[in-house]
Amino acid sequence: METWKDEVLEQSFVNTDLIEKLISAENIPSDEEFNKVMEKAEKGKDTLSLEEVAVLLNSPQKERIERIFETAKEIKERVYGHRVVLFAPLYLGNKCMNLCTYCGFKATNTEIDRLTLDLDQIDGEVNTLIDQGHKRLILVYGTHPDYTAEYIAKTVEKTYSVKGEHGEIRRVNINAAPMSVEDFKKIKDSGIGTYQIFQETYHEPTYSHVHPQGEKANFKWRLFGLDRAMKAGIDDVGIGALFGLYNWKFEVLGLMSHVLHLEENYGVGPHTISFPRLTEATGIVRHEDYTVKDDELKRIIAILRLAVPYTGLILTARESAKMRKECMDLGVSQIDAGTQIELQGYTKNEKEQDLAKEQFTIGDSRSLLEVMQDLMENGFVPSFCTACYRLGRTGEHFMEFSKPGFIHNFCSPNAYLTLAEYLEDYAEEETKETGYNLIKQEIKTAPLDERVKKDVIEKLEKIKNGERDLYF
Ligand code: SAM
Repeated sequence: METWKDEVLEQSFVNTDLIEKLISAENIPSDEEFNKVMEKAEKGKDTLSLEEVAVLLNSPQKERIERIFETAKEIKERVYGHRVVLFAPLYLGNKCMNLCTYCGFKATNTEIDRLTLDLDQIDGEVNTLIDQGHKRLILVYGTHPDYTAEYIAKTVEKTYSVKGEHGEIRRVNINAAPMSVEDFKKIKDSGIGTYQIFQETYHEPTYSHVHPQGEKANFKWRLFGLDRAMKAGIDDVGIGALFGLYNWKFEVLGLMSHVLHLEENYGVGPHTISFPRLTEATGIVRHEDYTVKDDELKRIIAILRLAVPYTGLILTARESAKMRKECMDLGVSQIDAGTQIELQGYTKNEKEQDLAKEQFTIGDSRSLLEVMQDLMENGFVPSFCTACYRLGRTGEHFMEFSKPGFIHNFCSPNAYLTLAEYLEDYAEEETKETGYNLIKQEIKTAPLDERVKKDVIEKLEKIKNGERDLYF
C-alpha cells in the first residue's frame, strides 16, 4: 500500500471536537438562526455548511421538523421529479478477514457458510437478474485476499458480458474494501459506475471499538479511500454511515465533513449517500444503544436532502416496505428492489432469509415487480436509466449537468423510456396499463421542453416497435 504512510500522517478531515460541540444539547438555535438556514436551503442550490446542518439537527420542535419535511419534499420534486432509480445488490463473495462487531461476515463467525462465486455462477445470477428486468447492479464483496483488484475487475467485465433475452446489465457499481491508487485504476478500467464504500462511523473512538482487527481497523486508510479512488480517476463515488453505532447527529455531520472534503479537493461531492440502519445478524455484538428510531431516520433523510440537493440518496431493503414508502417523498432518489443478499440468492430464489448464509436481516423482500407496482400506484416513476454514466456525464460533469432543467429534460425522459422498455419486455397487461397511464400523465404535466416532449413520444413509439436502449 504505497500511500499508507501519507494516509496515516494526513490530518483527518473529521473534526470530532467541533462536531461534538455543534451537536451538544446546549447548542439551541434561535428562530432567527433556523429561519436563515431554511431560507438558504429552500433555494435548493448550494451545499450547506456543518454549522448550518447542525442548526437543522438541533431543531426537534414539531413545527420546525414539519417545515424541514415540507421543504425536503419540494426540493425532491423540483430536482428529481417523480423518478426513483432502481437497482439490485449482487453479493459475489462473503469471505472476510475483518472483525466488524456488527457484521455477519466477520472472520470469527463460524456459523456462516463462506462462498465466492466463480464466473459460471456469476453468469447464472446475472441472467436471473436480467430476466427480472434489472439494468443496474451493485456488486458486493467481503474483505479478503481472494478479492484482489484483478478478481473484482474480472467479475465486473463478466457481469457486463452476460446477454439475456431482454438485453444486458448496463451499469455495474461496486462496494468493496478500499484499495491503493494502482488497484483502483485496475477496477476503473473494467468500466465500473460508482465505487461505494461506507465509513460505518465517523467517530474515531467508536470506529476503533467496532473494528478491533484486520485491514478495516485502520480508520484513516478507509477515510481517505475515496481520495485514492478520485486520484485513480474514479470520480463517481458513494459514501455512507452505518447508523446505530454512534450518535446519529454526529454521523450526519461526519457525512457532511466527507462531502465538503471531496468538494473542496476534487471539485465534486459524492454521487450518492447511503444511511443504512444496523439490523440483526448472526454473532452481532451490540455495544451501546444508539438505535436510530423511525422518526429520526426520516429527519436524517430530509436534512440530507436540504444539505446536498443534487446528491443521490439511497434507502436500501434493510428497511421495511412501509418505512421505505414513508421516506420516499422526503428525498430518497434510489432504492434496491427484489433484493437477495444470500450468495447465489437470485438463482435459488428462496422467500425466507437464512441468516447462516447472509450478512444481515432485510426488511423489504418484495420482488422487483411488486416494488414497481407499488411505486407506480403512488405516482413514482421507476427508472433504470444509465445514460449519464455511458455518455461520460460523471463526477464534475454530472454536477454541472444536474441542474433542474437538465434533470427534467434528460433524466425524466430517460426514466419514461426505461420504464417503457420494462413494460414491453416484462409486464403483464394490468401493470402495462398502470405504467403507460403514468408515463402519459407525466408527459402532460412534467416541465419538459416542447421539443423534448415530441422526441420522447417518438422514442416511446420506437420502443413499442421493438427498438431498445434509446436515451437522451
Ligand atoms: N468489504 C466491504 C467493506 O469493507 O466495506 C463490504 C462491506 S459490507 C458487504 C457492506 C455494508 O453492509 C457495510 O459497509 C456495512 O455498512 C453494512 N452492514 C454490515 N453489517 C450490517 C448490519 N448488521 N446491518 C446493516 N448493515 C450492515
